[in-house]
Amino acid sequence: MNDIIHLLPDSVANQIAAGEVIQRPASVIKELVENAIDAGAGNIQVVLKDAGRTLIQVTDDGKGMSEMDARMAFERHATSKISSAADLFALRTMGFRGEALASIAAVAQVELRTRRKEDELGTFINIAGSQVESQQPGNCPTGTSFFIKNLFFNVPARRKFLKSNETELRHIITEFIRIALVYPELHFSLTHNDTEIYELAATNRRQRIAHIFGNKNNNFSRQLLPIDTTTTLVNISGYVGTPETALRNANQYFFVNGRYMRHPYFHKAVMQAYDRLLANDAGPNYFIYFDIDPGSIDVNIHPTKTEIKFENEAAIWPIITAAIKEVLGKSNAVPSIEFDV
Ligand code: ADP
Ligand code: MG
Repeated sequence: MNDIIHLLPDSVANQIAAGEVIQRPASVIKELVENAIDAGAGNIQVVLKDAGRTLIQVTDDGKGMSEMDARMAFERHATSKISSAADLFALRTMGFRGEALASIAAVAQVELRTRRKEDELGTFINIAGSQVESQQPGNCPTGTSFFIKNLFFNVPARRKFLKSNETELRHIITEFIRIALVYPELHFSLTHNDTEIYELAATNRRQRIAHIFGNKNNNFSRQLLPIDTTTTLVNISGYVGTPETALRNANQYFFVNGRYMRHPYFHKAVMQAYDRLLANDAGPNYFIYFDIDPGSIDVNIHPTKTEIKFENEAAIWPIITAAIKEVLGKSNAVPSIEFDV
């Protein structure tokens, strides 16, 4: 008689989910750029107005969506990337939860234009606060463009808690760089209020790193020492900076299977390899990429968490230090005083 439990309407459920997935404009950029990569894009353009507050536009030349898929893409838990729990242990895509677009559409005004190359006409959809406002065929290039307008227009509390444009833009750039460092073979651009921030031509890893962090005067690329180790447990590659280029605010990046991660424990392994080579409170630049059996890590912890759990962390530690010590040794970066290890 007096039963009181009912299912929440989708728009409410989506808005609640959005609270976790979409915290600020940078989250939108991360999700849309990751989707573009999963769609096989070679070219990804991000255009922002007011640090993403009024407009976030992400355009790709990936495979596009069919008319039905374009509509389905906004449903919660709708994804083309996994179909069973077993797939979670063999993830090769950036996305898999099927939550991002549903969440974004719950808290913003979204326009989608998408076309597959086999279709003559593309699909245009307008959706705001989870309500589809229009859907019609239209002319557009192969690939996908998302226009995200007035983020949190219907969640005043969230909108109010956004930080200054400067801070929000800094978060956006952080996310953008983390992705660009993993995909040097893709062309990326980032434009804010008609000013170009990054224009990153397709290249290799070393040049991508140098392009982002170097400047005319410091010849960043030459100060990067390559590491490359293959073991049964893990492959580790990337670049570490020479000890002389260590900084107080060093650029320190770990990636695993194409995702940025934070890993305080592995950071200590890196620092140990530089033992006695660094001036006080200076840290080395490093860009270290782990390739590992997806079944031995857990990326399914939380949509926005960047910490990743490894099965064999203690066994990986010495592989990291050995790889770095070897390359530092070759580059003659030895301490002036002899010591026992
Ligand atoms: P997920 O990425 O976890 O699958 P999303 O909500 O981010 O979930 O996207 C839902 C689906 O929409 C994706 O699985 C994909 O099939 C499709 N999609 C999203 N963005 C693009 C894009 N830029 N190009 C082609 N398909 C896309
Ligand atoms: Mg996604």
